[in-house]
Amino acid sequence: MAYKMSKDAIITRCGYRCDLCLAYKPNVIKNSANQQKLSDGWFKYFGFRIPPENIVCDGCMSDNPKLIDISCPVRPCVLNKGHKNCAECSEMICGKLSERIVVYDELRTSLGIDIPEDDYQCFIRPYENKRRLKKLAAGNKE
Ligand code: SF4
Ligand code: SF4
Repeated sequence: MAYKMSKDAIITRCGYRCDLCLAYKPNVIKNSANQQKLSDGWFKYFGFRIPPENIVCDGCMSDNPKLIDISCPVRPCVLNKGHKNCAECSEMICGKLSERIVVYDELRTSLGIDIPEDDYQCFIRPYENKRRLKKLAAGNKE
């Protein structure tokens, strides 16, 4: 059976979900207080700090987007290959994609902490791309 994604899902080139990401411009417009929340959450779970005022992103499926992750190696690679996202690529998971892979269990183990549900929903679920891409790839084969 093909993998069913929510009809509102916006899947990025690397398998993140813009619609769930608090930095996605339409989500920032709805609630700008989430910029500070996300700045703190990204620092807590991924170790980088971006000032809240810079946390707004067009999403990488837009044309000529203004992105937060301007050094991402994945987006240009996917576009060069003419794919929609990495799930369509026979090289998945390559070194470039590995740089942007997020896996919940690995994160929890490396940090050695319990992750509260709200933190999971806000800071991890949108970026859990390994699981999402593998399901998409399985669905694409059908
Ligand atoms: S990490 Fe790269 S491919 Fe993934 S959403 Fe951001 S810009 Fe797009
Ligand atoms: S080579 Fe890697 S980054 Fe490029 S499309 Fe394939 S899996 Fe994605």
